Amino acid sequence: MEYFETHAHYDTPEYDADRDAILRSVSDAGVSHILNVSYETGSSARSVALAGQYPWIHAAVGIHPQYIQCFDESAKTLLRELVQAPSVVAVGECGLDYFAWKSGKKEADGISAQADIIAERERQMEAFRWQMELAAQAGLPVVVHSRAAGPDTMQILREFPKVRGVMHSFSYSAEMALECVKLGWHIGIGPVITRPGARKIREVAEKVPLERLLIETDCPYQVTESCRGQRGDSRMLAQIAAEIAGIKGISAEEVAETTTANAGKLFSPSPI
Ligand SMILES: [Zn+2]
Repeated sequence: MEYFETHAHYDTPEYDADRDAILRSVSDAGVSHILNVSYETGSSARSVALAGQYPWIHAAVGIHPQYIQCFDESAKTLLRELVQAPSVVAVGECGLDYFAWKSGKKEADGISAQADIIAERERQMEAFRWQMELAAQAGLPVVVHSRAAGPDTMQILREFPKVRGVMHSFSYSAEMALECVKLGWHIGIGPVITRPGARKIREVAEKVPLERLLIETDCPYQVTESCRGQRGDSRMLAQIAAEIAGIKGISAEEVAETTTANAGKLFSPSPI
């Protein structure tokens, strides 16, 4: 079976000790393509370097909403330059995360003032819009991270009707997933689907047509139920595909084959 890993972070220090060995075992296990997704400027440069080293790795470059402090003029210059690299097939991950920001704030400063919340939302929306515009200009799809920010995310997707991409590690309702699909977007299903009681994402997997699903591990940040307490890697895709197959009543082969083809089309010119 062949899998396309559509969201991994192999440039992170978690893989420094054995990166090459892991990437080769992942490839031997049938993961024929990996999209290495960036979260800030350093990560963007490292993703492009990694994609230059391995023909089956492709890069997405961008700034995650939790790293918004590094979104400045020099970051914009770097991203404009990096999107031109042949191994860069997407912009991201970018988007909105009101959950992480609020919970981080509570620990650090006590309850945030309403004005702070509004200012932060505006900063995140500005960076997200800028990256959507960059993708539009470069003709690239976008890897969107969105948490506790459904309405603002939908608003920005609608502002850029020509931009397509994936709503990565989807955490909203099946209704919102179908709205994204209507706008031409794909839905990324990750390790959460293997958790007992993951009702919401199971319903998403059931209702969204297979032609619009992508599979991803978000390694090393997420793990499947059976890999709890371990460092994950893209071999977990087999468990995610099997879970989706069970929900849809189809074979795991069909899930692997169709999601691989979906990703190949979305993240072209990646040769597939
Ligand atoms: Zn990620």
